[in-house]
Amino acid sequence: MTNSADASSISSFPAGQIGEEAARLTVDLQALADNWRLMAKKSGKARTAAVLKADAYGIGLEPAARTLYRAGARDFFVATPAEGRALRPTAPDGRIFVLSGMWAGSEELFFENDLVPVVASSEQLAVFMAAIAERGDYPCALQVDTGMNRLGLSPGEALALANDPVRPASFSPVLILSHLACGDDPLHPMNRMQLDRFRAATRAFDGVEASLANSAGVFLGEDFHFDLTRPGISVYGGAAVNGEPNPMKPVVTAEARILLVREAKIGEAVSYGATAVLSRDSRIAVAAIGYADGYLRSLSGAGVPLRQTVSSGAKGYLHGRHVPLIGRVTMDLTHFDVTDLPAGTVRPGDFIELFGPHMPIETVAKAGGTIDYVLLTSLGTRYRRDYIEAR
Ligand SMILES: *Cc1c(COP(=O)(O)O)cnc(C)c1O
Repeated sequence: MTNSADASSISSFPAGQIGEEAARLTVDLQALADNWRLMAKKSGKARTAAVLKADAYGIGLEPAARTLYRAGARDFFVATPAEGRALRPTAPDGRIFVLSGMWAGSEELFFENDLVPVVASSEQLAVFMAAIAERGDYPCALQVDTGMNRLGLSPGEALALANDPVRPASFSPVLILSHLACGDDPLHPMNRMQLDRFRAATRAFDGVEASLANSAGVFLGEDFHFDLTRPGISVYGGAAVNGEPNPMKPVVTAEARILLVREAKIGEAVSYGATAVLSRDSRIAVAAIGYADGYLRSLSGAGVPLRQTVSSGAKGYLHGRHVPLIGRVTMDLTHFDVTDLPAGTVRPGDFIELFGPHMPIETVAKAGGTIDYVLLTSLGTRYRRDYIEAR
């Protein structure tokens, strides 16, 4: 881990002595702010929201929200009303959109915390209408499904709603939005098709602000930007577009302590299932990290039948070198083959980088047959978390 931040600009959670921790996360809030600003710049004339669902993609809601608010974000997206309530104190005058929308029983959570439901179906629309009939005028957003078959009114339902002569005057969405299914693949024909459908829907709601682009959508260009963009993963340092260099700064560094280093002979086996059999005399480092920390079992060096495309598993970064994971990842422990590092280099207590500036998170994710979103949102509670404050 190389950073030049002085100690006073670092806050840690949970509080504890340095040295007690088995694994640590370093979250670079300056990089987070820089990434958001870059996405805002790429969004051109559109405003740029901050997407903070799932504890801000696992990095911590409060520090992420505080940093992006200071960087200038005033529109926020979360998944659930409970996440909106948790966000409200950090973004007192921000507009907080709740992507899962309002269901019966959740109404008060919205009203008490000034949250904007993103209406996701005609049933949700009925719940919202009933709630505001009692309460009076209240903002909402409308999601239109343009091809993903996830949340949103169908284009037909949205059109019917827009043209409904008895539509209550009180129903006035502040935003109409849709979500791209294939934005990470710029040449996919779904992108253009969804754009066309979304344009038709926005024309029906003339004068209402519109939002289509997630991170990948921002990279698809101006046509996709509309009034508000919603980048998530790229702000957290992930790769939004497949097959292109990732221009974002790494935000999260995950490191685990080496507990011991052992020598093992050719022909011996490593870890559960004895799936790795040594082809040479080896030096093996056992690190205090496992699938209970979101270091997924599918990152294992061998014995993952579901992973078809990559045969070898993840690598870690230690003393200037990438070292392969060997055998299966277990709940709390993982083996790395450090034979190629000079004897005596690796010592108990050293930290191995699992992902971060030297080991791109999207590369690690790929080795596990998954995506960086999954690694971030699976991190778990055992890491000591150090936050480098933005300047
Ligand atoms: C999660 C989410 C986003 C952010 O997507 P990224 O791919 O992380 O940029 C934007 N919009 C909606 C509706 C989402 O669910």
